[in-house]
Amino acid sequence: MKYISTRGNNQNMTSAQAIIAGLAKDGGLFVPESIPQVDMEFIQSLSDLSYQQRAVKVLSCFLTDYTQEEITGCVERAYGNGKFDDKAVAPLNIMDDLSVLELWHGPTSAFKDMALQLLPQLLSTALKKTGEKNQVLILVATSGDTGKAALEGFRDVDQTKIIVFYPENGVSRIQRLQMVTQQGNNVAVTAVKGNFDDAQSGVKAIFSHKEFNEKLNEAGVSLSSANSINWGRLVPQIVYYFSAYADLLKAGKIKAGDKISFTVPTGNFGDILAGYYAMRMGLPVAKLICASNTNNVLTDFLKTGVYDRNRDFYKTISPSMDILISSNLERLLYHVTDDAAQVAKWMQELAEKGRYDVGAEVLAKIQAVFGCDWADDAKTMDTINEVYGKNHYIADTHTAVAWRSAEDYMSQGHQEPMIVVSTASPYKFNESVLTALGQSVDGLDEFQLLDKLQAMNSFPIPAGLAALKDAQVRHSVVVEKTAMEKAVEAFAKAE
Ligand SMILES: *Cc1c(COP(=O)(O)O)cnc(C)c1O
Repeated sequence: MKYISTRGNNQNMTSAQAIIAGLAKDGGLFVPESIPQVDMEFIQSLSDLSYQQRAVKVLSCFLTDYTQEEITGCVERAYGNGKFDDKAVAPLNIMDDLSVLELWHGPTSAFKDMALQLLPQLLSTALKKTGEKNQVLILVATSGDTGKAALEGFRDVDQTKIIVFYPENGVSRIQRLQMVTQQGNNVAVTAVKGNFDDAQSGVKAIFSHKEFNEKLNEAGVSLSSANSINWGRLVPQIVYYFSAYADLLKAGKIKAGDKISFTVPTGNFGDILAGYYAMRMGLPVAKLICASNTNNVLTDFLKTGVYDRNRDFYKTISPSMDILISSNLERLLYHVTDDAAQVAKWMQELAEKGRYDVGAEVLAKIQAVFGCDWADDAKTMDTINEVYGKNHYIADTHTAVAWRSAEDYMSQGHQEPMIVVSTASPYKFNESVLTALGQSVDGLDEFQLLDKLQAMNSFPIPAGLAALKDAQVRHSVVVEKTAMEKAVEAFAKAE
């Protein structure tokens, strides 16, 4: 299977090549030239398999240039070895009214681990397969969770280095602590004076700066990305949509072929786009509901067909969704239109005017699959409290945004089984969660907050968070948003 650019300048790459490159030369994103199809027998066969085995089967549909042994090895290193604190890796918590797909049992307690444990394995295998000699320097812009998960995934992986940029005041205290204490001999963590979009735009500018990349190449370093624009980030996420369906089958909650819906707390549109790929492959999906916080640029887009980032940026209690440019939407536009020239034009309009309009016909195709809704901080807090009262379950702020949207959707008379995609452990956003549950947080430090939440929760504090208490700060650099390239250059040259 070949991978092509959403903007038409096709390099016809293998998946290994696309994963090494990250972004296409024309600034587009890599997509498979056609979407593989599976039948109901394939889906049913997943029921009796472990998550790792399910992953091998689904990934093999896309990574056709990897051998079975290579994929199996990558999957085992990513999800085996007790790296996840639940044997099921992505357990489906089936409740009376809906089910919760818990994607936060990995080393950093957020869903980014699902992809970022696997991507480094796929990348290092790709480097070997293609005989690439250069060292790969991973550049990441993060609104919090990606950074830590990428650092954990790449730390001390051969032939790689990683530098992470995060908005100085745009991540939670726990997220910051997780990153600035990162260990490993190939890692750098840098705060940027600006918001997430500044950091992301800075990283994109570095990738597209030709002379800079050539200079690095001559010095034996190639840049690559672990942001959700990398195909190797996206493809692992397709697995858990199948896995959740297989779990509902296994539990006897649905029959093969029954349609189900997912509600996904969305930022960069990577998670929910993986659901779209699953559906296009043949998974019976009724609707994918895109749930946003007050930065509801996607809600407006899915209602009107106009994407307009010219709006205020809000800091919310679900910071991993505080995003105004959802990069992965580009892939959806490509698959819906099959028209790279048109996609390139929209992306140019987005870059120049911050706005584009896909028109009624394309919008109708998108709306046939995607629903949308949003919840502000007050509704999010209410939902955490209600869910605790009703289901005795503690949802984090991001999950609560989705839960709220899912309930609103179901209350409109939709009957199909609903899965809420849960993207973070409540311990990670403990202050907002405790406040929502009516608890006082006054004067409590991070670790007292964890203990206080533990007293109300049936899950223990995740090991990675508990260990932060005694961890040493190793990274304290802060740069202007105009100085990111310099920071990359210095790190590329450093031992
Ligand atoms: C990244 C993230 C999201 C958003 O996922 P996208 O793939 O960017 O849409 C939601 N919740 C949490 C906790 C996250 O870390």
